[in-house]
Amino acid sequence: MAKRDYYKVLDVPRNAAEAEIKKAYRRLAMKYHPDRNPNDREAEEHFKEAKEAYEVLSEPGKRAVYDQYGHAGVEASRAGAAGAGGFHGAEAFGDIFGDVFGDIFGTGRRSASQAYRGADLRYEIALDLSEAVFGRTVEIDVNKLVECEVCHGSGAARGTTPSSCDTCGGTGQVRVSQGFFTLQQTCPHCRGTGRIVRNPCDHCLGQGRVRRSKKLQVKIPAGVDSGDRVRLAGEGEVGRNGGPPGDLYVEVQVREHPIFERDGAHLSCEVPISFATAALGGSVEVPTLDGQVVLKIPAETQSGRVFRLRDKGVKSVRGHARGDLFCRVVVETPVNLSQEQRTLLHELDESLQRDGNKHAPRQKSFFDGVKRFFSGSSS
Ligand SMILES: [Zn+2]
Ligand SMILES: [Zn+2]
Repeated sequence: MAKRDYYKVLDVPRNAAEAEIKKAYRRLAMKYHPDRNPNDREAEEHFKEAKEAYEVLSEPGKRAVYDQYGHAGVEASRAGAAGAGGFHGAEAFGDIFGDVFGDIFGTGRRSASQAYRGADLRYEIALDLSEAVFGRTVEIDVNKLVECEVCHGSGAARGTTPSSCDTCGGTGQVRVSQGFFTLQQTCPHCRGTGRIVRNPCDHCLGQGRVRRSKKLQVKIPAGVDSGDRVRLAGEGEVGRNGGPPGDLYVEVQVREHPIFERDGAHLSCEVPISFATAALGGSVEVPTLDGQVVLKIPAETQSGRVFRLRDKGVKSVRGHARGDLFCRVVVETPVNLSQEQRTLLHELDESLQRDGNKHAPRQKSFFDGVKRFFSGSSS
């Protein structure tokens, strides 16, 4: 297949500035990156083509050769430079990833240590109250960086191995003199890894890591609450240069429940009761997390009274005793009354008033208080 013109490949004019070339390449690389187009041969070809064009046009020397002699000139100088780091040398490659991909994939390759730990990951899951209270196993799909299955993390093409960095002699550190001081710094050539990949792995583009989604089973213990985290050791992103992997933290968010409010181990809810039940006493069914229970309402119960149902709350994940359920009864004013019901209520009201206000303890203390307030005396 005849090679396309590098400027056409990147779709930039022949006098394009360096920044424009980088931008064009970055756009194509994002579009055709093998991680985004798995098993797509055509995308892979586009990607390789763009990468090759960028490698040449981003280096002034190579670009000048290409401008003057075309593909033939590039091939000739590539052959001449083979084995000496030449055109496919590590520097050009490092630059591509450091500058073009560094901020996208956030690989932290500017770290000063040689081997470093993979990043910790955080994953949020939303649970219903009963799931949080009784626990469950959840399957989650985590998108993370894993070791490249082709080069096993080395970043080197199949059949090759990374070579020791010439600049730092493989230590990853260089000494720089500044006046009286000698400073130890991360080697700028290999970025502290001590190794240079001369033939990068096609699959991960020399990164040694690829992005994959992985299914994981997470056991959520009973009694968790919003903000609790379950740690899955070693399930974060893979480390670099033999560093250990990070951890995955699964953070729980408990959805609001239509009936129950949770406060640690205790639950509370509101229970509406009728005016007659409140006055005469009776029983109502109230929901608990283990099913319905009957709550006895004594006669003369006032609205707002709280009943405590022991051990009907939550057993905290931290292992204390089970909490209680607090039921606050609310007397409901009857609505949509028929004429007959209105008449009955009037009759009842008149009957109650004939006895003074001995049937209304709150009214009595309220009006007594109002009287005292206007007469200016306290207590
Ligand atoms: Zn690889
Ligand atoms: Zn080095």
